[in-house]
Amino acid sequence: MRREFGGTRTSSCRTGVLIVGMGVRCPAWWPYPDRCGNGHEWGPELVLVSWQQCHCPGAQRLHPDRAIWGHFTVACREPGCRSVWYDPPHEPGPEA
Ligand SMILES: [Zn+2]
Ligand SMILES: [Zn+2]
Repeated sequence: MRREFGGTRTSSCRTGVLIVGMGVRCPAWWPYPDRCGNGHEWGPELVLVSWQQCHCPGAQRLHPDRAIWGHFTVACREPGCRSVWYDPPHEPGPEA
């Protein structure tokens, strides 16, 4: 089963993780969670977005072409915080 690229990215803001009624600065276009796994607020200047090649089942779900299997990674820039969010979700496991 394959999902459109926009599917997971647009829904994450609305379904959100832990919306705690204070200073949510998630813009309408923000396709990522509005805070990291450790609770730091996320916004355009508060994260580092990059691309990571990966062949896990999660990465393979988006495209049939293995040359572009991978995830967008969103890393929290809070000093000392190593929280990283994967899109699509990283699913470590035995490679088929
Ligand atoms: Zn963080
Ligand atoms: Zn992966």
